[in-house]
Amino acid sequence: MSVQQEASVDGEALEVWIDQDLCTGDGICAQYAPEVFELDIDGLAYVKTADDQLLQDPGATTRVPLPLLTDVVDSAKECPGECIHVRRVSDKVEVYGPDVA
Ligand code: SF4
Repeated sequence: MSVQQEASVDGEALEVWIDQDLCTGDGICAQYAPEVFELDIDGLAYVKTADDQLLQDPGATTRVPLPLLTDVVDSAKECPGECIHVRRVSDKVEVYGPDVA
């Protein structure tokens, strides 16, 4: 079993979730980071686990793998729906995304 290194800001593990209510289904995130994001049959984007399982519950989170941090952050920046949220696991504070103050 391989151990995947997870992304962190100042040593904090990060997770990402999508607000499907705002997703436009353009697929930019799935192009940037297909290991983390995927469009489902409903045309909306969802996050995936490290073993490629699509998480279809609204607001489901997955850990951000360290090698993919830039791609995930770029996805959040470019997302036309402004609905990709990257936050710290420990206190759920958003560090990249539309809710960053
Ligand atoms: S980039 Fe944003 S709006 Fe586009 S498919 Fe991904 S989550 Fe949805």
